[in-house]
Amino acid sequence: MPNGAIFHPDFKPEPFWWEAYRPSADDLVDVPKTARVAIVGAGYGGLATALELHRHGVECVVLEARELGHGASTRSGGAVSGGVNIGKSFTGKSLDPASDRARGLLTDAADAFSTIERLVAEENIDCSWQKTGRFVGAWTRKHYASQAGRVAMLNDAAQSECYMVPRERQREEMASDYYYGGMVVERAACLHPALYYKGLLDAVRRRGIAVCAMAPVGRIVRHNDGWKVGTGRGDIEVDEVVIATNGYTGDLTPNLKRRVIPVASHIIATEELPEGLAASLIPKKRTLSDTRRVLTYYRLSPDHKRVIFGGRARFTAASPEVTAPVLQAMMAARFPQLKGTRVTHCWTGNVAFTLDAVPHMGQDDGMHYLLGCNGSGVAMMTYLGTQTARKIARVANHSNHFDAEDFPDHPLYGGNPWFLPAIGSWYRLRDTIDRMQADWTS
Ligand SMILES: Cc1cc2nc3c(=O)[nH]c(=O)nc-3n(C[C@H](O)[C@H](O)[C@H](O)COP(=O)(O)OP(=O)(O)OC[C@H]3O[C@@H](n4cnc5c(N)ncnc54)[C@H](O)[C@@H]3O)c2cc1C
Repeated sequence: MPNGAIFHPDFKPEPFWWEAYRPSADDLVDVPKTARVAIVGAGYGGLATALELHRHGVECVVLEARELGHGASTRSGGAVSGGVNIGKSFTGKSLDPASDRARGLLTDAADAFSTIERLVAEENIDCSWQKTGRFVGAWTRKHYASQAGRVAMLNDAAQSECYMVPRERQREEMASDYYYGGMVVERAACLHPALYYKGLLDAVRRRGIAVCAMAPVGRIVRHNDGWKVGTGRGDIEVDEVVIATNGYTGDLTPNLKRRVIPVASHIIATEELPEGLAASLIPKKRTLSDTRRVLTYYRLSPDHKRVIFGGRARFTAASPEVTAPVLQAMMAARFPQLKGTRVTHCWTGNVAFTLDAVPHMGQDDGMHYLLGCNGSGVAMMTYLGTQTARKIARVANHSNHFDAEDFPDHPLYGGNPWFLPAIGSWYRLRDTIDRMQADWTS
């Protein structure tokens, strides 16, 4: 156990969610010799692709390098929204919110929310789905004004059911005056990410689809009219390949690797709080986030006894000794009531950012891909998997706006994000300056 007063004696350096479902490679399924489609990566994206392919009678196999659920899908904050962050810049480039493309993306993102909501209901997935909305705190007064400017668009294009909450009424949303007011998004939910994962996995297995753990794909080559896919546990011949590796995209697909930037996100779970305290902090049980460049996101645990608090404490992987104190301090800045509250879990996972801040699906060199959740992938990767499957099965009656030919890269980026620590420091500094300016002028 790490040293320090903030660590609970029962501290574990792994996701709180794994108490309910732990990634597993038990019941190892052999890699079959042939299939119609091979899906690389068994996260939400890969499993949703498999489910939808099966629905349309297309035989497939899912190949996972590690235990099932090893990737981001069992590590997230579990906030589910329909596109609030679409096109919000990470690299400085932002989508023009008034453009037809932005409107189309938002409409499809709203569809992503409907897709996951329907899937959870249809498959009877017991994952603490709660449609309690989201509050996005404004870091500065300027941010509040810019949020207010997006409300009509979000309501119109994405049926987000948004409205602004001024600073004087912020305590209706959270027991804190930390932000300059913010935006409520009623059409948003939260779930238990690992139980949602387990539910998808169970649904896939119930249909007899092979999901092969510990089968890292090391090579994909053209073979006859299709592909030969080489895994650590044997080769498989298929007609089509789907790459669903998101923040874990590697040298297998160098062309895709240089289009996504893997950024580490870190989370802590607190110990159980005294009766009623957690619920009083976030009275409407919404998920919370903010408009900082180095954003934070937080919520209550499904039993409403703990706070789960995440953010980019560092932009790269780092130990709990480094990240947990930073996150605990950020949490206590928002909720002074949690000063001294101990941490029982701290963990990290990779999210995949794209250079245009938009998730992408499409084809590269004949292989399908769905990549680039930009930190909001619970609904989105489920949706892009479903859409990719519909495209392969040729049942999509229209192409969605995430399926665009232009998946930008940058001549100075080849897949090694060496610049992330510098960007992280620069963003933190700019956040601090913005906030100081806002506080001085208020
Ligand atoms: C800490 C954290 C917090 C987050 N919070 C939220 C949130 O609150 N709300 C939200 O909407 N999103 C959130 N996200 C993002 C969300 O979790 C992801 O977008 C989503 O889970 C991605 O799903 P996926 O299937 O695309 O990828 P993953 O679940 O990451 O799965 C990709 C899989 O591909 C496998 N793989 C890679 N290479 C190979 C290979 N060569 N062969 C075989 N397998 C391979 C990996 O092992 C991995 O298991 C968060 C992410 C993190 C890390």
